[in-house]
Amino acid sequence: MMMRSQPKERVKELREILSKYSYEYHVLDLPSVSDAVYDSLFGELKSIEAEHPELITSDSPTQRVGGELLGGFKKVTHSSRMLSLNDVFDRADVEAWVVRMDKLLPGTRHEFFTDIKMDGLACALTYQDGVLRQAVTRGDSFVGEDVTTNVRTIKNVPLRLRDAEGFEKFLIGKTEIRGEIVMLKKDFNALNEKRRAAGEPEFANPRNLAAGTIRQLDPKLVAARPLSFRAYDLLRDAPSDVPTNMFAYEALSALGISRNREASTFTDLNGVMKFIDEWSDKRLDLPFNTDGLVVKVNDRAQFAKLGIVGKQPRAAVAYKYAAEQATTIVKDIVISIGRTGAATPVAVFDPVVVAGTTVQHASLHNADEIARLDVRIGDTAIIFKAGDIIPKLESIVLELRPKGAKPFDFLEALKHQYPELSFYRPEGEVVYRVEGVTGPLLLTKAVEHFASKGALDIDTLGEKNVIALVDAGLVKDLADIYTVTKTQLLELDRFADISAGKLVDAIADKKTPLLERFVYGLGIRHVGTQTAIDLVNAFGTLEKLRTATIDELKDIDGIGEVVAESVAAWFADPDNEALILKFAELGVKPVFEKKTGPFTGQNFVVTGTLESLSRDEAADRIRALGGTFQSAVAKDTTYLVAGGKVGGSKLKKAQQYGTQIIDEATFKEMIT
Ligand code: NAD
Repeated sequence: MMMRSQPKERVKELREILSKYSYEYHVLDLPSVSDAVYDSLFGELKSIEAEHPELITSDSPTQRVGGELLGGFKKVTHSSRMLSLNDVFDRADVEAWVVRMDKLLPGTRHEFFTDIKMDGLACALTYQDGVLRQAVTRGDSFVGEDVTTNVRTIKNVPLRLRDAEGFEKFLIGKTEIRGEIVMLKKDFNALNEKRRAAGEPEFANPRNLAAGTIRQLDPKLVAARPLSFRAYDLLRDAPSDVPTNMFAYEALSALGISRNREASTFTDLNGVMKFIDEWSDKRLDLPFNTDGLVVKVNDRAQFAKLGIVGKQPRAAVAYKYAAEQATTIVKDIVISIGRTGAATPVAVFDPVVVAGTTVQHASLHNADEIARLDVRIGDTAIIFKAGDIIPKLESIVLELRPKGAKPFDFLEALKHQYPELSFYRPEGEVVYRVEGVTGPLLLTKAVEHFASKGALDIDTLGEKNVIALVDAGLVKDLADIYTVTKTQLLELDRFADISAGKLVDAIADKKTPLLERFVYGLGIRHVGTQTAIDLVNAFGTLEKLRTATIDELKDIDGIGEVVAESVAAWFADPDNEALILKFAELGVKPVFEKKTGPFTGQNFVVTGTLESLSRDEAADRIRALGGTFQSAVAKDTTYLVAGGKVGGSKLKKAQQYGTQIIDEATFKEMIT
C-alpha cells in the first residue's frame, strides 16, 4: 500500500531538507545534491504552497533568498534588495508570465531583453566618482559581506571606470554595478590539472569553487585562483540615467566592464523563444557554466512598476533548460516477467519530466539492486536521464522517507503478484526466473498467442510456422513478424512461393488490428479477452492504457489489484516499452471501435453447455451486441445464461445479486 505524507508534513520535510541543501550550497560552498535536484524539490514545495497558501511561512525557502552569512567579513546593507528569479521551463510558462504582466500593465507593449544566466555568485560593486570602493556579496539579499579586498584581485574588475564619451555621468557620484563572479571553465580545468599532478583532491565544480574562493580570508589565496566578473546590472540613484537594460549593457561596455555579448532584445515572444532555442546547445560552448537564460522587460520604468512578489521581480524570469535529474515519488514497485522468464522489478513514479520527457517508471533490474538502493514504496527518488538513455533511479532522498516505509521484500512481492508461478535464481545470477520455461519456448508461445484466433487471428501463422521463424532468428519479438519478407521465407525449407506470399500478406493484413485483440495478443498475464475489452473500453487508446497508473486501472469495473499490477508491470517493463514503440515504427496501428448495441451496459455469464453454440461463439455474440462476457457471476452480472441446470452456489449468488437466470431459448431470442 502506497504511503504518502500529508501536505502539511510534506511541506515541513521539504523545507527542512531545502534549508539544509541551501546552507551547504550558499554557506559551505559544498552542495550534496545537484541544482536540478534542489530545483525539483523546490518546485514541489512551491506547488504545494500554491495549492495550500495557508501553509506558507515567512521562513520557507520559497520566501527567502540565499543563505545565512558566514561571518569573518563586515556586513553591508544593499542599496536595494538583490533578488532571485522565478523559474520558467517552457513556452507555456513564458506566455503565462507575459499574461500576468499584461494584467498589471494593460495595453503596454513589452520589449524583451534576454541574456545568458551565469552560474556563479552575485556581487555588487560600488564605484564612487569612477573609483572602486566596495564589493559586497548577495548574502541574504538584504545584507551581504564586504569582500572588496578579494574582488580587487579579480583581473577584469577595473579599479577605475573608463572615461567614455556620452557616459560621463557614470563617473560622477555613485555607480553600482551588479554581476556574477565566475571561474571560467578553462581556468577551473587548469587548476584541477595542477592539483591532480600534485596529488591533491580536485575541486567539484567552478561555481562552488568561485563562491568558496571569494570568501577566503586570505587575499593571496584568492589571487592564486583565477576568477572573472561579468556584469548584468547598472544602478544609479536617478533611475532615468539607465532607461533600458540594453542601455545598461552598452554603458557597462563603455565603462570598461565585462558583460555578455550575447544579450539581445526582442519585440515579441517568438524572438525570445528563438533565442532560447538557439542557446539550448550553444550555451555548452560558452567559456563559463550557465544556469539557463534570463528574460527581462527591457524598459526599466516598466520593470520597476511591475514590482516584486515575495523574493522575485515580476518583470524578469530565469529560463531553465530541461534538467537531466529530477525528484519524484515511488508510488509502487511492480515485477514484470520478461520474454526470457526473468522477473524484473520496476519502480512506478508520480509522472515527472526529466530531460524533456515524462518519466513514469524505471527498471530496478533485480532484488540486489533494490537492496543496494534501499528503495521503498513512498520514497522520494532522484531520477536521472541523459540524452536518449533510459531513465534510471539514481538514489533516494532518505530524509524524505515516510515513517513506517518498509524495505521491499522481493520474494514476497513475487509470490503476491504471481501466486501460480514458481521462481528460481540460477547460481551465480542476480535475476529470478520462472521455473520451467526457457527463452525460445516463451517466445514461440508468445508469438503463437499473438497470432491466435482470439488475438490477431493470423491463421497461417500457426505453431509450426512460428517455430520455423523463431528458429531461423527472423522473429525475436512480437513486432518482428511484421518485418519478415518473402525472400527471407523462401530461404527456409518450409516455404514455397505461394505459402511464403500468403503468410507475408496475412501478416500485412493485420496492421490495423482491433485494439482489444492487440492488447489481448500482447500476452499480459491475467489479461484475457474480456479484460482486454474492459481495458480498451476504459482507456480508448493504447497510449492511455500504456500510461495508466495502478489506481486508474483498479478503478475499472471488473479489474482488481492483481490484474491492475500485472498490466502496469507489463507496460512499465523497458523491453515492453521498446516493443510498443517498435510496433508503432513498423506502422502497426491498433484501432479502437467502441461497440454499442442492445446489450450495452449488460453483463452476461454462461454456465453449463449450450446446445446451439459454443461458449466462445456466445461470448462473441454478446460482445458484438455491446455486452460484456463475464467468467463468473458477480455483483454486476445482469444475466446468467443456463445451459442445463444451474449449480447451487451459482444459483445462490445470482439470487443474492439480483441476476436474472435465463435459459438457452430465451438467450437465443435475445441474440437473433
Ligand atoms: P536565481 O536562480 O534566483 O537567479 C538570480 C541570480 O541569477 C542573480 O542573483 C544573479 O546572481 C544570477 N545571474 C546570473 N546571470 C545573470 C544575468 N545575466 N542576469 C541577471 N542575473 C543573473 O538565483 P538563486 O536565488 O541563487 O537561485 C538559487 C540557485 O542556487 C538555483 O540555481 C539552485 O539550483 C541553486 N541552489 C542549489 C543548491 C544545491 O544544494 N545544489 C542549494 C540551494 C540553491
